[in-house]
Amino acid sequence: MAEHESLEFGKADFVLLDNVSLEEFMANLKLRFEKGRIYTYIGEVVVSVNPYRAMNIYGRDTIEQYKGRELYERPPHLFAIADAAYKAMKRRNKDTCIVISGESGAGKTEASKYIMQYIAAITNPGQRAEVERVKNMLLKSNCVLEAFGNAKTNRNDNSSRFGKYMDINFDFKGDPIGGHINNYLLEKSRVIFQQEGERSFHSFYQVCVCVCVSVYVCVTRQTDATISWYTDQMGRGSVTVLIIKSSIDDGADFKAVADAMKVIGFTADELQTVYKVLATILHLGNLTFGVDGDTTLIENSKVVAVIGDLLATKEENVEKALLYRTVATGRDVIDKQHTAQEASYGRDALAKAMYERMFCWIVGRINDVIEVKNYDAKVHGKNTVIGVLDIYGFEIFQNNSFEQFCINYCNEKLQQLFIQLVLRQEQEEYQREGIPWKHIDFFNNQIIVDLVELQHKGIFSVLDEACMNVGKVTDKVFLQGLNSKLVNHAHYTSRKLSPTDKSLEFDRDFRVRHYAGNVVYSVVGFIDKNKDTLFQDFKRLLYNSSNPVLKVMWPEGKLRITEVTKRPLTAATLFKNSMIALVENLACKEPYYVRCIKPNDVKSPLLFEHERCRHQVEYLGLLENVRVRRAGFANRQEYPRFLQRYKMISEFTWPNHDLPSEKEAVKKLLQGCGFEQDVAYGKTKVFIRTPRTLFCLEEQRTEM
Ligand code: ATP
Ligand code: MG
Repeated sequence: MAEHESLEFGKADFVLLDNVSLEEFMANLKLRFEKGRIYTYIGEVVVSVNPYRAMNIYGRDTIEQYKGRELYERPPHLFAIADAAYKAMKRRNKDTCIVISGESGAGKTEASKYIMQYIAAITNPGQRAEVERVKNMLLKSNCVLEAFGNAKTNRNDNSSRFGKYMDINFDFKGDPIGGHINNYLLEKSRVIFQQEGERSFHSFYQVCVCVCVSVYVCVTRQTDATISWYTDQMGRGSVTVLIIKSSIDDGADFKAVADAMKVIGFTADELQTVYKVLATILHLGNLTFGVDGDTTLIENSKVVAVIGDLLATKEENVEKALLYRTVATGRDVIDKQHTAQEASYGRDALAKAMYERMFCWIVGRINDVIEVKNYDAKVHGKNTVIGVLDIYGFEIFQNNSFEQFCINYCNEKLQQLFIQLVLRQEQEEYQREGIPWKHIDFFNNQIIVDLVELQHKGIFSVLDEACMNVGKVTDKVFLQGLNSKLVNHAHYTSRKLSPTDKSLEFDRDFRVRHYAGNVVYSVVGFIDKNKDTLFQDFKRLLYNSSNPVLKVMWPEGKLRITEVTKRPLTAATLFKNSMIALVENLACKEPYYVRCIKPNDVKSPLLFEHERCRHQVEYLGLLENVRVRRAGFANRQEYPRFLQRYKMISEFTWPNHDLPSEKEAVKKLLQGCGFEQDVAYGKTKVFIRTPRTLFCLEEQRTEM
């Protein structure tokens, strides 16, 4: 709390602002950023601004300062939140979660790693070998997931292209004994296409630069896939071009990832298969199709032979899967030849699917190793959990498609959860403590969540229906469906419904008024991305590989053509279901929030771009958060804790009191200071309404 009175660094908690206005909020945020104070509270929420420079605030000594302390006793820090979550888990046996949000490059992944490091550092004082092993694996898993799930984008050199939720399980002693990772919506379109200045996933470049596996990638001069269309679309001739002048060292990372995978327990065969899958995808990127009369053919057939080798299957099987589709018509099974265009589509779908499947398999393998098995709750007591969520923030690009739509829906869900939990938590605490609650209103985004996910009426339902249509299934049909179903919805518009609106293109765009702002989506590609078709032939090809590791990734390839009847679930439905499950899981835990802000677009440690930051503060709903916090009581503390901190202020309590209870002692103390009007006494805690009181108490305390 030492910093609260020091105006030099601004207010350590936004709740302490004299007036809650956007201007004051921004001024405080800016002042603190400029003074190198990157963390500020709103009650128990940490607001973090990416410093874009190494900060000397994560070391062993800092960890020691935060260990076991209460939030207000030290300057705001991620460690304090991690400690609060840990204490709630350990002392009160509560499952907790830490939700980290913010836009790309705001610092979510870094924050999640510091939190994990902190938890690892403060646990296992007894140095039990099994616990150390688990901790090591949990930490090592980050490096592996980043290699396969992160990429350089124009916003962030190490951008996570998937959502991640990690549970850490603790035993009755409070030591980590295992964990579980859930991954969400990998941006697999990146495997075949990247915007200018961006890269595909790190893993591709890592295998290319590493000599020991480059043999897979570069078999002969004619089949050199270190130059693959998939990873080198700018035609600069070398994948390494994009990494010059950047923070990435693919060679060093390759080794670190391979080591981490070995530590986690990936076998040599598994590692080799991973490299072979990466190489296969790169080679696929160089496959082109042509026509000769009625026949579709592969123009560079040498590549097919290489792929056959890598996939441990016959060359002709690969060729057949790429050029033909086996279809069942009644009882007959026939081979239908693809057009060159269909074949290219199939090739790209195969590349994306192989990568995504491998990514999920890697996550699954990590889970196999870190999951708590045979934990006997009867013997050891309850096993408690801290969950850490690092998931994509709200996205508004020049051109927004299906991926942005899913990501923004995810953010609506999380915002809804935030509203429910923050309000509910406050309300529950007041009830528990026997203090009356004053309801406060703010925008409830449930209406937008419904717009997207409601059965029959929501955008996802309309999309799924359009995908079911036989015959003319086009993006336009989807848009027409939206327009007819959502004509009266306050948060939906299209050019058809608002003909004069020039910001929308007639047959292409629709706009959703999200809680964070308006986003125009282009329907182009929605149908295709939602159907996410991968021809059965490829699944059978991969399942029939004589490489057992590869086979395991493709179990559904086992089905014969006549046995495949069920339509697979669409991408939208899968995503919706995973989000609903995620939110349900978070809702039953005690939440802690980290709200990350990106200060500028040029990765500068000095620049606080006012407009950029203001926008983020607005859509993260931070001001409303401060208001909710202040509408109730700005601060609450347990009686013994409060006494311990402020007893020197009053003659009745210093050095000891002779009152019947600590609650009575606190009353006496506060009466003596004239704060009686501003506080309420709960069963176990004293509630302080305005920050001013807290501020005065702190002042008096330091004057003593
Ligand atoms: P994305 O949504 O794209 O995954 P993100 O929010 O996870 O973005 P990070 O990858 O965590 O963003 O951070 C981007 C970069 O910002 C980091 O690579 C690092 O250079 C810098 N950075 C973030 N947080 C910190 C910090 N606490 N200290 C120093 N640098 C940081
Ligand atoms: Mg990230």
